[in-house]
Amino acid sequence: MSASDEAALLARARAVMPGGVSSPVRAFGAVEGEPPFVARGQGPYVFDRAGRRYVDLVCSWGPLILGHAHPAVVEAVQRAAADGLTFGATCEGEVLLAERILERFPFAQKVRFTSSGTEATMGAVRLARGATGRPRVVKFEGCYHGHVDALLVKGGSGLATFGRPSSAGVPEAFTALTEVLPLDDEQAASELFAHKGREIAVVAIEPMPANAGLLEQRLAFLQHLRALCTRHGALLLFDEVISGFRVAPGGMTERTGITPDLVAVGKIVGGGMPVGAFLGPAALMDQLAPLGPVYHAGTLSGNPVAMAAGRATLDLLAAPGTYERLDALGARLAAGWQAALAAAGQPGSVVRVGSVLWLCLQGGEAPRAFHRIAPQGAALYGGLHRRVLAAGTWMAPSAYEVAFVSTAHSEADIDAAAAALAAGLAELPSAAAAPAPGKGRRA
Ligand code: PMP
Repeated sequence: MSASDEAALLARARAVMPGGVSSPVRAFGAVEGEPPFVARGQGPYVFDRAGRRYVDLVCSWGPLILGHAHPAVVEAVQRAAADGLTFGATCEGEVLLAERILERFPFAQKVRFTSSGTEATMGAVRLARGATGRPRVVKFEGCYHGHVDALLVKGGSGLATFGRPSSAGVPEAFTALTEVLPLDDEQAASELFAHKGREIAVVAIEPMPANAGLLEQRLAFLQHLRALCTRHGALLLFDEVISGFRVAPGGMTERTGITPDLVAVGKIVGGGMPVGAFLGPAALMDQLAPLGPVYHAGTLSGNPVAMAAGRATLDLLAAPGTYERLDALGARLAAGWQAALAAAGQPGSVVRVGSVLWLCLQGGEAPRAFHRIAPQGAALYGGLHRRVLAAGTWMAPSAYEVAFVSTAHSEADIDAAAAALAAGLAELPSAAAAPAPGKGRRA
């Protein structure tokens, strides 16, 4: 495989897929250089087509908490696949995975499976509107809940990278019932409820916002949202697509001790296969068809192969010491990154919750709200990313995305990733010479 083969494949990809990708941030639009194709993944590594190995800190954007191709997950998938790929009828694997999910989220009694995180939040919002009979949805600036029309407003993830707050193709009428609030601001939430509380069906939030950097929220703020929802008869939806099974078996619901009305999960719950789910108390979930009037369906929902991958993953995560290990590896990477920033004299900090980390390239206190993220960090990151990749570590191709550590990473892998950042920072032109914000941004 030569460089010209790679360039030719990239050209073919761009000829047949918009931007050459199936999801925008993969196009490397916000960083320098061209995206390598990934040929395979093994444990903590991805390999490009030339066989070059990278320590993977993206981990497929979160699902691969056990690393790539964990033998027990692969075996579970192979065994399930041999018995048929999809039935369009209920299979035992759905029951087994639902039971495991509910053990970890004891406030809930029922689960509805989907094929993605987007579908999980979409279903949860529809259910909330159907169950309350109210029209309005509240979301927070910088939080991303998938590409659901009503929630595709001032989102994070690819939208932040794109440099546009919202998507074209979503008519204003579709988002007229969406209220967007700043994170970390009790007063703004109180004021909205004072005016429109009776119309609000649901407050949707990533309790650990991880799609516009890692905007750790104060517990008091999340508790305030819970209290407002309870007082005004609105539902609280925790979008735990990233945090679920990641920061604790029961995600932020467990960590905060707050009881939401609905939780959406995805990523880890499918063990690398396309799965999402939403869950809640029986009386609420039973409003879904076929028992209730709120329609939700899916040809591949509850897919037997995906259910097997999710079950194997959750079972492996239940081994004693797993989360302590993930936390220790996360702490090691944070310390390594912090040392790299200090050695380079680069202002910044590392925000970390367990095995989720954000390299925050701005001085002062780490931001807790989207509008407090300085754009210079993204400009600096564009050049840094290419250098870190060249040094053998695969970081997210966007300053707004977080890094994930898996149980497959060794201490040596973590140290190599920190050394790659140090090498990248050392090579970087000074911050003052960094390109202006916005340069190179494309979908
Ligand atoms: N919610 C959150 C918090 C997410 O991070 C994501 C995806 N990164 C989604 C929802 C959408 O999930 P999916 O990409 O599987 O549709």
